[in-house]
Amino acid sequence: MNVPVTQDKAAPVEAFDVEAVNRRTRQKLYQARVKVFPKRTWGTFRNLKWAVMAVTLAIYWITPWLRWDRGPFAPDQAVLVDLANRRFYFFFIEIWPQEFFYVAGLLIMAGLGLFLITSVAGRVWCGYTCPQTVWTDLFIWVERLIEGDRNARMKLDKAPWGVEKIAKRVAVHAVWLVIAVSTGGAWIFYFADAPSLFVNLFTLQAPPIAYITVGVLTATTYTFAGFMREQVCTYMCPWPRIQGAMLDEDSLLVTYNGWRGEPRSRHQKKAAAEGLDIGDCVDCNACVVVCPMGIDIRDGNQLECITCALCIDACNAVMDKLDRPRGLISYSTLRGHNANAAEAERAGRATATAHQRTVGVSHIARPRTLLYFGLWSLVGLVMLGALVTRDRLDINVIPDRNPLYVTLSDGSIRNGYAVKILNMTGEPRQFEVALDGLPGAAMWEAGSTEDSATRAIAVDVDADRLREVKVFVSQPSAAVEPGLTGFAFTVRDLAGSESGRADADFYAPGG
Ligand code: SF4
Ligand code: SF4
Repeated sequence: MNVPVTQDKAAPVEAFDVEAVNRRTRQKLYQARVKVFPKRTWGTFRNLKWAVMAVTLAIYWITPWLRWDRGPFAPDQAVLVDLANRRFYFFFIEIWPQEFFYVAGLLIMAGLGLFLITSVAGRVWCGYTCPQTVWTDLFIWVERLIEGDRNARMKLDKAPWGVEKIAKRVAVHAVWLVIAVSTGGAWIFYFADAPSLFVNLFTLQAPPIAYITVGVLTATTYTFAGFMREQVCTYMCPWPRIQGAMLDEDSLLVTYNGWRGEPRSRHQKKAAAEGLDIGDCVDCNACVVVCPMGIDIRDGNQLECITCALCIDACNAVMDKLDRPRGLISYSTLRGHNANAAEAERAGRATATAHQRTVGVSHIARPRTLLYFGLWSLVGLVMLGALVTRDRLDINVIPDRNPLYVTLSDGSIRNGYAVKILNMTGEPRQFEVALDGLPGAAMWEAGSTEDSATRAIAVDVDADRLREVKVFVSQPSAAVEPGLTGFAFTVRDLAGSESGRADADFYAPGG
């Protein structure tokens, strides 16, 4: 029912106690990017990052060129996703489509491994091995090599366009493009014989999808590592959000030890002379200018922090110069940080600094990490066991449906079957296919005559191939059971020990 709404125009205007949702609390929908110019730093974690970058890039670019001898009937590329023949080769392992659960298992292991690593060492994946981090680091290195370190790059960025700026920018972008193209190029080599595809690419003989893939990966590499950089981690990647739900008091984080650094002061000597109680932080901002994410770790744990630890290196260098103990910024857990802060409160900053707690074994061996490790190991062992004991032979039988059976002139009953034998090795093999059960029955291959009927036939199967053999099975009338009778086809490698079996039904009238 519609209720008419009326308004008393003579009543005074009412004031509501409310505040617009976007006042003070809401940020603009679009925030322009503030360009980040990370400064070069030196130290343990920077060296570790260089090493990880070199290893991961080498693995990515070299792997498709590694060869692995699998005999004359299989490709010799060590790692190959052979889409045309529906195979995945990984050194001595060959995965067929029906064995895709191995790949699923590997993905589960990768997921559990990421959880395990995160719970032990925080976002080391983000800080060291994520492709976005590695390629961005590489692009920044190129930029620094050509344009100079932070100040020079900032100066060049602000400078009007001139010969020097154009020359440097063209050089930077040219090298970036070479890296981006070789990144896309390396990817497609995982899906075809790398040397042949390399030649085909340059002689324009490669399939269009190869050029399209290289083009797409070139564009994404160039854009993500050259321009978007930290924005990919902050806005596009779901991992920082997922990780937020995984953090606990024992999660390893790059931490500014405020209990030791605050109150910060740029005028330490003056403050000390005035008898002020000041912390170790000299507010030099060295930790901020080296940060590839452009954040200030002194603001606390932040979603943007990829825990690359470069701010630790930068601050340690400052502490060395000031002759203060390292670790004003350090890898720490919330529990460890709070214990240090409590110690500083109780015994004073100097004592707490002298006994600053670092991460110990108890941080690694705790219920959560042990659970992840247990699950990860379990999946790995199950996969390994399945891989070691898996068959390289498979048999599958499909009975004829129309007709289900044929009554021959002598009264015997004949059924037809398609017997599929899968030889999953790199060598041609000869198998014996035999009947198990079905008394008095014999079989023969389609194309030969019933006179050749026997209990077992020999079947040759090429290397790495599936062969389908059409066979007829007949049973004398005296032995036939009415209705359905179960029996089996067995298959045996005549030169080896492998064997298999497939159940089947024999149809006869009656029942
Ligand atoms: S580098 Fe260390 S001393 Fe300098 S501002 Fe950062 S935390 Fe403070
Ligand atoms: S705050 Fe430190 S650890 Fe975090 S991203 Fe910046 S430099 Fe890396």
